[in-house]
Amino acid sequence: MFDLEQTLKSILVSENAYLRMNEPMARHTTFRIGGPAGAFVSPGNEEELSAVLRLCRGRGLPYTVLGNGSNLLVSDKGYDGVVIAMEDGFAWRRTEGSCLIAGAGELLSRAASLALERSLTGFEFAAGIPGTVGGALVMNAGAYGSEIKDVLAWARVMTEEGRVLTLSGEELELGYRTSCIPSRHYIVLEAAFRLLPGEKDAIVSRMKELAARRREKQPLEYHSAGSTFKRPEGYFAGKLIEDAGLKGCRVGGAQVSEKHCGFVINRDNATAADVIGLCNHIKERVKAMSGVELEMEVKKLGEF
Ligand SMILES: Cc1cc2nc3c(=O)[nH]c(=O)nc-3n(C[C@H](O)[C@H](O)[C@H](O)COP(=O)(O)OP(=O)(O)OC[C@H]3O[C@@H](n4cnc5c(N)ncnc54)[C@H](O)[C@@H]3O)c2cc1C
Repeated sequence: MFDLEQTLKSILVSENAYLRMNEPMARHTTFRIGGPAGAFVSPGNEEELSAVLRLCRGRGLPYTVLGNGSNLLVSDKGYDGVVIAMEDGFAWRRTEGSCLIAGAGELLSRAASLALERSLTGFEFAAGIPGTVGGALVMNAGAYGSEIKDVLAWARVMTEEGRVLTLSGEELELGYRTSCIPSRHYIVLEAAFRLLPGEKDAIVSRMKELAARRREKQPLEYHSAGSTFKRPEGYFAGKLIEDAGLKGCRVGGAQVSEKHCGFVINRDNATAADVIGLCNHIKERVKAMSGVELEMEVKKLGEF
């Protein structure tokens, strides 16, 4: 009989790899919400990743890819499939001339630190975004007037069949908080960012300035997944939510942040159902008050 745990164990043999069955996803999301993943695997290298993909596809097992879980709401029932976490095996960074190259599992903050160390400018905007390089490409993450699209030179991705392609930003169709990576079922392996030689002091002071702006405006003292909704054209989601009278509004343990209405926070042991209940209420009220349809920026995983 097929034994998933044993089969995965026989694939994940490198030093950096690990496997956990029934792993609570609340441990792996910045919301600190989410039931168990059937299998949680962290491949140590590309060979192990492609073997896991082959297994999932061959057996018809659902799978998903996880970065730092900072843009993710996982169902209270969890995810009945294989979560492929891009962690230690894909967490590395280096520079080549003024190019910053990093593995998909590397945190943006660590990649930005290396850019600073090498006096390279252009990546300061990403230092405070709590995601990985892979997650940032999927979302075309951005802040304070810059986004991944502006600096991406190329990315290596793995297809569902385990083929590796090198693609440009254009080929990845990077747009406002979107890319074609999920629809093409690509897995980001690594990415290169075209930066410019700069002044270390200027880079440090820009990073400090942006960090201070985040601390001042964002509810960083609570668990969340950042901006809950995308910015509707011509509006700001936070302002629409505040104008709809929803500042501080709660459903169970989930709350519209009193500091920044664009953030739904895990105020007090919120469940995914609380967050979704609150998001639906926000959408309805904002639509009724302003006619604007809000779209979730946070991605959902599992059954809701
Ligand atoms: C406090 C806070 C502040 C934030 N500020 C910002 C901000 O200023 N700007 C901004 O854009 N975002 C912001 N975010 C949201 C979030 O950090 C970004 O969207 C980030 O890019 C997500 O990266 P991640 O690694 O956490 O991705 P995850 O949340 O782990 O995954 C997001 C999506 O990407 C997919 N994915 C992840 N890695 C890969 C991979 N290697 N290959 C293929 N698919 C993959 C996942 O399947 C999922 O669909 C903030 C979040 C928080 C909690």
